[in-house]
Amino acid sequence: MKELDDYNFANKKALIRVDFNVPLNEDFEVTDMTRIEAAKPTIIKVLEDGGSAVLMSHLGRPKGEKNPDLSLEHICTAVSDVIGVAVKFVDNCVGEKAEKAVAELQNGEVLLLENLRYHAEEEKGDETFAEQLSKLGDIYVNDAFGTAHRAHASTTIIAKYFEDAKCFGYLLSKEIKAIEKVMRTGEKPVLAILGGAKVSSKITIIENILDKVDDLIIGGGMTYTFIKAQGGQVGDSICEDDKMELAMEILKQANEKGVNIHIPVDVIAADDFSNTANTKIVDVDKIEDGWQGLDAGPKTLENFKNVILGAKTILWNGPVGVFEMDSFAKGTIAVGNLIDQATQNGAFSLVGGGDSVAAVKQFGFENKVSYVSTGGGAMLESLEGKTLPGIAAILA
Ligand code: AMP
Repeated sequence: MKELDDYNFANKKALIRVDFNVPLNEDFEVTDMTRIEAAKPTIIKVLEDGGSAVLMSHLGRPKGEKNPDLSLEHICTAVSDVIGVAVKFVDNCVGEKAEKAVAELQNGEVLLLENLRYHAEEEKGDETFAEQLSKLGDIYVNDAFGTAHRAHASTTIIAKYFEDAKCFGYLLSKEIKAIEKVMRTGEKPVLAILGGAKVSSKITIIENILDKVDDLIIGGGMTYTFIKAQGGQVGDSICEDDKMELAMEILKQANEKGVNIHIPVDVIAADDFSNTANTKIVDVDKIEDGWQGLDAGPKTLENFKNVILGAKTILWNGPVGVFEMDSFAKGTIAVGNLIDQATQNGAFSLVGGGDSVAAVKQFGFENKVSYVSTGGGAMLESLEGKTLPGIAAILA
């Protein structure tokens, strides 16, 4: 039994690893509730069953020091407001005081433990520390996708002290299912859109994904390494000369595996890496020196349109241009709009990994795609085909 709904929490204490690593302003107020709201359904299920919830999380990087600026006490009010139940707080996450606070916890109540990373043992995955944490609940629930790629005490090691009493929270289950849909069970044609700055940071994803997709759109700064490798002229565009051989190898592999690769054919070139630069539309393989490609061109977007609207399952990781500058955001916005349209037509769309979510939020696509992942690094590692230790520990 690994799913939350397989358990009844009546008279049980759920020890829930949440990701409350939220942004705070200078008055220590939470400025973005997304992660707290994402944990709410799991907490409410436990309370409605008639149990109590012990919440543990890290906040920032205190590196084993008790840094008061990073105390989870700052977020108690925000958590209370979101879940609608007064949240109790204890100023340590292990030891007598924490154990006493848990022992006194009544059904229907919620207790938040102090920052896990005040103890250096957390990030080291220390067994004794994990065992101490394990005393604070009857059932261990992992609902922190954002840290599922870390073999820390509270995310991974702790699970072995709950042999038959451990499961994923709703959020983590949703993340796993979304990834599965893209990587294994998605309706065909499956399309991955990979953008961003460099081939080197996406190479493992590309290699892993070639076995799963029918179409692959390569955009953004990665484009130019592929174009130059094929003999094109890329001017001053971002290009990794030492990855050109790899780019050719990817094209060869894609061909062998029957994956259709779609690379920009024209780009918006600029004479400076600046929002106010002079720009012109040029063929992607004829960019003169002094000019650099910073966004997808109109013919490219027309090609992308046909592929995106024809897809039934879509993964989007990375912008197709320098979206931070208005002058070069059009391509990324167009891709977002096309994914929105495909989603409305019944496709499943997942956005995630690295900074992709920032672009999606900036342009308001959050509610237009099927799923936006909450974990940057964890999603990237999943797309690379790695088994995340936090997930493996629950399944063990
Ligand atoms: P990543 O974190 O690898 O997904 O990369 C995201 C970054 O890639 C963003 O900051 C974009 O500005 C950048 N990027 C996208 N297209 C280009 C391009 N043509 N030239 C330079 N940087 C780009």
